[in-house]
Amino acid sequence: MTDVAERAAAGFRTRYGEPPAGRWAAPGRVNLIGEHTDYNDGFVLPFALPLRTVAAAAGQDGARWTVWSELSDETVTFGADEVAEPGRVTGWGAYVAGVVWALRDAGHDVPGARLAIASDVPLGAGLSSSAALEAAVLTALVDLGGLDLPAERQPRLAQRAENVYVGAPTGIMDQSAAIRCRDGHALFLDCRTEEVEHIPFDLHAAGLAMLVVDSHAPHRHADGEYAARRRSCEAGAARLGVPALRDVGIDQLDTALARLDDPETRRRVRHVVTEDQRVLDTVALLRAGRVREIGPLLTASHVSMRDDFEITVPEIDTAVEAALAAGALGARMTGGGFGGCVLALVEVDAAEAVADAVTAAYAKKGFPAPGHVTVLPAGGATRLD
Ligand code: ADP
Ligand code: MG
Repeated sequence: MTDVAERAAAGFRTRYGEPPAGRWAAPGRVNLIGEHTDYNDGFVLPFALPLRTVAAAAGQDGARWTVWSELSDETVTFGADEVAEPGRVTGWGAYVAGVVWALRDAGHDVPGARLAIASDVPLGAGLSSSAALEAAVLTALVDLGGLDLPAERQPRLAQRAENVYVGAPTGIMDQSAAIRCRDGHALFLDCRTEEVEHIPFDLHAAGLAMLVVDSHAPHRHADGEYAARRRSCEAGAARLGVPALRDVGIDQLDTALARLDDPETRRRVRHVVTEDQRVLDTVALLRAGRVREIGPLLTASHVSMRDDFEITVPEIDTAVEAALAAGALGARMTGGGFGGCVLALVEVDAAEAVADAVTAAYAKKGFPAPGHVTVLPAGGATRLD
């Protein structure tokens, strides 16, 4: 298939009869470690993928926005009325209208625009195609309009587009990653303060790569289970008398657990508290240049999600076990759970063999074949030309 930036430009020319004024790209992301810690005011550590969504764009007169996406080969058009309040544009166009709405709601004079979208980020696989779309559109509009909106304030707006306009409750991680990640780094994000720090994560220099396996597991009851996990965490924090589980340090864990009489709440709390600590430990190793040594932390995170948080499914556990047996240095499910992707930290030369081992383990259990891609940490949203 042609390069995604080429496809966006070609789509623009076909649709609008002239070349775009520019192209803006924003990546999908995976979370290296720190799962279900975000809504507990804790830590996450995503990195951007080399898979990107590209918006080819140019201005147009008046408060009119026209957007085409290669994905469904559809064009959506909206004006000032549709972005006067949330929810008036539905379907995929809502992510684009949401960005325009959020910018205007924050007082920005958003230029009218024509856009053409192409993407290499698979939808709904947990790689955050939604934030990639928002970030590509947002950066295009900021540049086209010369808006005064520095990168550190952009994730909040993109998140509002998704939370308020689209109506999907998500944390700040996806948009922060899509906008702020740096090539060869992971993004250490404190979900309480929203402070970020770029942590060196040079897999290439270490002779390593990250294998991302798309489990192709159907999302089973994911929404209800997610809500139930949040409730357990809130109940645990309330019982312990802290604002959020982030406030329980690893050295206070045993005392905290002893105060919880419900065994399920105890397991949920243990996952969150140990997971926050694993993020901090991973950051410490990466800061010290000890990339190879993070493998056991990834695997421990998986075990915690499987046994304490109980959010994995057989396909996911099979992929993790097969990857480890085939020599991965560490492996874990990434994302909210009940499907999605598995990360396996591998020697560059072993990536294909590990992927083959996962495929074979799937076949043995009669699961539909998984997908896979080998990646290095990439950069965040950027103007291409
Ligand atoms: P994820 O972000 O994990 O991929 P979401 O359900 O949050 O899954 O977002 C997927 C939705 O985002 C799609 O259903 C679609 O509405 C929208 N979307 C993402 N990328 C594109 C694209 N390239 N073109 C059109 N819509 C897109
Ligand atoms: Mg999403």
